[in-house]
Amino acid sequence: MQRNTTYKSPIINTEQLSKEEIIEAIANDYILPYFQPQVYINGHVRGFEVLARLDIPQRGIVRPAHFISQCIKYGILKPLFQKLFVKSLDGLEKFNQTYEHYKYTLSVNISNSQLKDSDFSQWLFDTLGNYDVKLEQLIIELTESQAQESGANELDNLSRLRLGGIKISIDDFGTGFSNLDTLTELEFDEVKLDRSFAHGVSGDKVSQIIIDSLIKIVKEINAELVVEGIENIKDLNFLHEAGCEIYQGYIFCRPKPFNEVARWLEVTVRHCAFKALN
Ligand code: C2E
Ligand code: CA
Ligand code: CA
Repeated sequence: MQRNTTYKSPIINTEQLSKEEIIEAIANDYILPYFQPQVYINGHVRGFEVLARLDIPQRGIVRPAHFISQCIKYGILKPLFQKLFVKSLDGLEKFNQTYEHYKYTLSVNISNSQLKDSDFSQWLFDTLGNYDVKLEQLIIELTESQAQESGANELDNLSRLRLGGIKISIDDFGTGFSNLDTLTELEFDEVKLDRSFAHGVSGDKVSQIIIDSLIKIVKEINAELVVEGIENIKDLNFLHEAGCEIYQGYIFCRPKPFNEVARWLEVTVRHCAFKALN
């Protein structure tokens, strides 16, 4: 069940949650998916990225920087991801039911530690089977550096997912640029340019040159291109002229809990329909 939440202030310190706090948060079901839209330049929505939050009563909303690396370190990412994923599918199913003619994508972040588990892909297929969603709607995001380090088990899980119709995206692309050739072992469908490239690109010649060459590479390999971290119109204009297609950033919408992103979507869909009629 999706919890009815409104914004709470995030914690402001940089402290990591302890193993016990995370285990307690998982057991108490304090896991909350935030959804951030991914849009085309004309305002149409392609889909949403799910970003994990913990909604801990004594702390408020806790961002992933405070718990994901701890989860990996203590081997407790699996139960957190499983609960997050199921809640995210609840949301996607609701969108499918509300907007019958659209099939929005749902992008989820995965770590190599999950892909080492040989049951991972089967669990994902079984879980998706319980929902009124299409396999093609799901996109698995793996960071470029993790993709470069993928071993046999990880690649095996990824190729089973892809054969089943699930898309693979290389996240934070550009941060491991010098080792791009090591990615050839992995088949993927999408590339997400790291937000360090988008931010301030309109006034930064070096970023512009890097972006131009990254866009060429991505197009040559026939992958979809998503640019994240766009916060202002000047950067958006530059990226559009440079050939970027799908955008994710605060300029369009911050990550929000389901009920709030659903309201945002309703207004956006209505606005696009109104524009199309005029
Ligand atoms: P990411 O996958 O690169 O996600 C994008 C991050 O950029 C999110 O931070 C998002 O809130 C932020 N962002 C989006 N648009 C803008 C913008 O215009 N400006 C700026 N400054 N930031 C923007 P968030 O939610 O704090 O997540 C941080 C990272 O935590 C994610 O980076 C991802 O690597 C990791 N993460 C989040 N959820 C999960 C999860 O369920 N599993 C795993 N393994 N990692 C996760
Ligand atoms: Ca991501
Ligand atoms: Ca990213």
